[in-house]
Amino acid sequence: MDPSSHQPPTPSRTAGAVWHGGVRVGIRLAAVRIDLHTHSDASDGTESPAQVVVAAAEAGLDVVALTDHDTTRGWEQAAAAAREVGVALVRGVELSCRHGGRSLHLLSYLHDPEHPALLAEAERVRNARQDRARQMVDRLSRDFPLTWADVEEQTTGDATVGRPHIADALVALGVVPDRSAAFADILATGSPYWVPHHAIRLPDAIELVLEAGGVPVLAHPGSVERGRPVDESELAALVRHGLAGVEVWHRDNPPAEQRRLAALAERFELLATGSSDYHGAGKPNRLGEHLTDRLVLELIEGSGRLEVVR
Ligand code: AMP
Ligand code: FE
Ligand code: FE
Ligand code: ZN
Repeated sequence: MDPSSHQPPTPSRTAGAVWHGGVRVGIRLAAVRIDLHTHSDASDGTESPAQVVVAAAEAGLDVVALTDHDTTRGWEQAAAAAREVGVALVRGVELSCRHGGRSLHLLSYLHDPEHPALLAEAERVRNARQDRARQMVDRLSRDFPLTWADVEEQTTGDATVGRPHIADALVALGVVPDRSAAFADILATGSPYWVPHHAIRLPDAIELVLEAGGVPVLAHPGSVERGRPVDESELAALVRHGLAGVEVWHRDNPPAEQRRLAALAERFELLATGSSDYHGAGKPNRLGEHLTDRLVLELIEGSGRLEVVR
C-alpha cells in the first residue's frame, strides 16, 4: 500500500509514520518498551538473571537493562536468555557511591566489564559490603536469633550482599513479614543495627565509568530515602564531571521531583531515563512501570541518530 494514500487526521502518536499536514515527515521513535534498571540475584533481586529477562519478555518489554549492584556477573546469563526470548539486553551496573554525606547510586551502561580500575573499585565496594553486613548481623544477633549462616542461606553464590539479604533472613526467621517491614524499622538507615559501608565518591565514579567507556546516569536522584534529593548546584557540578543522564521516571522520585528533574535534564542537556528498579519479589516495583524513550536509548548506545524522512 502506498503510505501517502493513508492520512490520519492529526500528527500521529502511534507507531510508524508521522504525518503533518498530509505529508509524511518522519518515523516515530517511542513505540518500544524500554526498562533501564533491574536487579537479579547477582545482587539483591530475588530472580536469576535469566528469570529477570524472561519476566521482562512476559511483561511486554522490548528492551531491559540488568543493573545489579556493584557487579556484572549476571550479564552472561542474561544475554543468553535475552537471545532466547527475543528481548534486547542493555548491560549495566548500579554503583554504590557517596556524595554530600549520603549514599547515592550511579548507573553505568555499556562499559567494559574488564576495565581494571572500575572492576577493582566494584570489588572494593563488594568486600566492604560483606564486612558491613557481618557487623550488622553481629549487632542484630544481640536481639534476634540471627546468624551469618542465615544470611548466607539467602544469598546466591557470590552475589553483592546488602541489607535485603539480611531482611530475607529475618523474614525466614519470622521476625518480620517481608523486606519492606524490615526496612521500615530494624534495617532502616540510622537504626541502631545499621552500619554504613565504604563507597566511592560520586564524581570519581562518574570519571571511572567514562574511562571504562560507559554512560553514567544518576539513579533515582529525587529519592528522599537516601537523605535529600540531589539539588541543582550538585547536578551542575556532576555534569561538569561528565554525568550523562538522570533517572527521572522512577517510583522513588515523587511526582514533583520528577517534574523538577525533567526540567533540569532539559536545562543541562542530560538524558532522562525511566525504569522500574525491579527486584523480583523483593520489592513491589513491577517491570515496565516506568519506561525510557527509544531516542534516549539510541543516544546511550552511541548511535545518536535522529532522522527526519521527507
Ligand atoms: P544496602 O545497599 O545494603 O544499604 O541496601 C539498600 C538496598 O535495599 C537498595 O538497593 C534496595 O534495593 C533495597 N531496599 C531499600 N528499601 C527497601 C524496601 N523498603 N523494601 C525492599 N527493599 C528495599
Ligand atoms: Fe537494590
Ligand atoms: Fe538504587
Ligand atoms: Zn536499583
